[in-house]
Amino acid sequence: MGIWMKAKEAAEEVRTEVAKAAAEYRAEGIVPKVAVLLVEGDPASAYYAESKRKIAAKLGIEFELLALPPESSERQLIDVVTAWSRDERVHGIMLELPLPRHISAAAVATAIDPLKDVDGVTPANKLAVMTGEPGLYPATPQSCIRLLRAYGYSPEGKHVALVGRGQTVGMPLFHMLQREQATVTVCHSRTADLKRHVQGADIVIAAVGRAGLLTKEMFRGETVVIDAGINEMADGGIAGDVAPDAIETAAAVSPVPGGVGTLTTALLFENAIKAIRLQRQAVKKGAEAK
Ligand code: NAP
Repeated sequence: MGIWMKAKEAAEEVRTEVAKAAAEYRAEGIVPKVAVLLVEGDPASAYYAESKRKIAAKLGIEFELLALPPESSERQLIDVVTAWSRDERVHGIMLELPLPRHISAAAVATAIDPLKDVDGVTPANKLAVMTGEPGLYPATPQSCIRLLRAYGYSPEGKHVALVGRGQTVGMPLFHMLQREQATVTVCHSRTADLKRHVQGADIVIAAVGRAGLLTKEMFRGETVVIDAGINEMADGGIAGDVAPDAIETAAAVSPVPGGVGTLTTALLFENAIKAIRLQRQAVKKGAEAK
């Protein structure tokens, strides 16, 4: 029987640090502010945006949520994030996904100032993740690695089976794990024998979006499993990609809810604090260059 890798404590530590940094900025006359753009129509996105508002209030971070109607144009969204990018009072910008089909998320993301891009969705920050340059890295992949470390598991020298190669979680993690000195096997929908790859891994990270895809038969006694999947179930609850009874065969499993997602939200605000620092450095550099 393995252990559940709950994220509550690690998330609390991050939130404490963020609240402290936010208070220090406020004392200097800078009010940390995050702005979130939501297109109405997806109840889950609206729920996530509202939960971010509650956390921001607890951390001393100002929060603006702009909800646009579903028929809004791509141009309107680009105009909003462009205005926030130019607004000195806004330090972090988030775009709630998914967007309606007629709007390209990539086109809107490109209009966000990379120094305010707390979700790590701009081309500049995606490149930074690939190359290891400083930047704002997406919070969910960071959360997976931080949760491993919180329980004393290091990816260094380990064989990691990464299940899912999506742009939000899988692909950034692929690059980040290699910099953590892991050997990474990337599995996806065309992988012929998922069980074989998962069985051969020391660490398994699931980022697919299919409840119960990974079952207890796939794990050995020493496998450590991070579940980044979020699946909305018919009963209104949420489940991960890993069947809950995997705890019977794996060494450790991160729960859903209460695992990766819990730490992700805290790390988004950590990114917001980092964003302020990066913006101040850029202003200083600009002044020195004159
Ligand atoms: P995505 O872009 O839809 O990618 C899903 C990936 O899963 C794709 O690479 C797909 O393969 C692969 N896949 C689909 N069916 C598979 C199968 N049967 N076997 C193996 N691989 C399969 O998703 P995403 O945006 O990266 O998100 C992944 C999951 O993370 C979702 O559940 C999402 O809700 C969750 N998420 C969690 C957080 C958090 O904070 N916890 C944040 C963001 C997202 P192909 O490439 O071949 O299509």
